[in-house]
Amino acid sequence: MKQFSIKYGRRKIFYSVIYTNRKTLEIAVHPDCSVVVTAPRNSNREAIREKVRLRSKWIVKQIDYFKQFEPRTPPRQYLNGESHFYLGKRYRLKLKTDLRESVALKRGFFVVSLRETENRKKVKEILYRWYEEKAKEKFTEIFEDFWNDFRLPDSRKPNLRIRKMKTRWGSLSPNGTLTVNIELIKAPKESIEYVIAHELCHVVHRSHGRKFYELLSAVMPDWYERKNKLEMMMA
Ligand SMILES: [Zn+2]
Repeated sequence: MKQFSIKYGRRKIFYSVIYTNRKTLEIAVHPDCSVVVTAPRNSNREAIREKVRLRSKWIVKQIDYFKQFEPRTPPRQYLNGESHFYLGKRYRLKLKTDLRESVALKRGFFVVSLRETENRKKVKEILYRWYEEKAKEKFTEIFEDFWNDFRLPDSRKPNLRIRKMKTRWGSLSPNGTLTVNIELIKAPKESIEYVIAHELCHVVHRSHGRKFYELLSAVMPDWYERKNKLEMMMA
């Protein structure tokens, strides 16, 4: 995809543009720090640039948030005292020497026990496995509850898949696989629920039309606040 850029102070914001049939322009900053503008088909490049420029302060804030949230940029060090998130809460890393590997949450600390606490790769691995396990547990629970509660008309139950995604929190494939980004386990529960509810509504309505939002509002009247909370966490 072609990249455009604008200057923001001493920084440069790179963004790509997707043209769709929608009537309004939307700017999104994804967890991998990419900026994607979804624009109506007839919008011209200069008008898009101007919109991006007007929102540049917000965009930079989002990017900076993701930079500390994402282990990749800058890389997490996996050292004592470092912040790591779980269900919207911040925990400090505490490494403990132990023959048995384990992870426990104790009074604001992520206590990771392992044989060699200086083996950062191992700490990362243990922590990731723990997140993965929790993500499976929490996402499945929410997914099953919602599926039973929503009673979506004429629809087939999707398969839930949890994996690391680069640019989105969730998606629904045409063959009925609902994928949730494992990184979402770091966000507040209300926001996880919002993402799963949103994707489940796509089972009935593929695109983000009026009917889609009517259904989403029916099953989750406060979806907008939850979405905001997710974005706030990234702010
Ligand atoms: Zn959607």
